[in-house]
Amino acid sequence: MREICSNKKYLEFDERKGYPKGKDIFYECEICGDIIPSMPEDSIQCSCKQVYIDVDYGRVAVKMPHKMKIFQCISKGK
Ligand SMILES: [Zn+2]
Repeated sequence: MREICSNKKYLEFDERKGYPKGKDIFYECEICGDIIPSMPEDSIQCSCKQVYIDVDYGRVAVKMPHKMKIFQCISKGK
């Protein structure tokens, strides 16, 4: 399986203030190990349903925020 990102920079976040999002930011579920983009085209959830992104409402729902990591994918310079 190909790594989604080879150069991850994990971000600090405060779930009460909202989750960072961006084209190069991904959410990593520590329970099932799924990695989902923070700005998906369609609503998406990880395999164990702990992280759910509702695109229509622009909402991120995480059951246990401490079981999720957020990282930014830093592309290496050429
Ligand atoms: Zn999961």
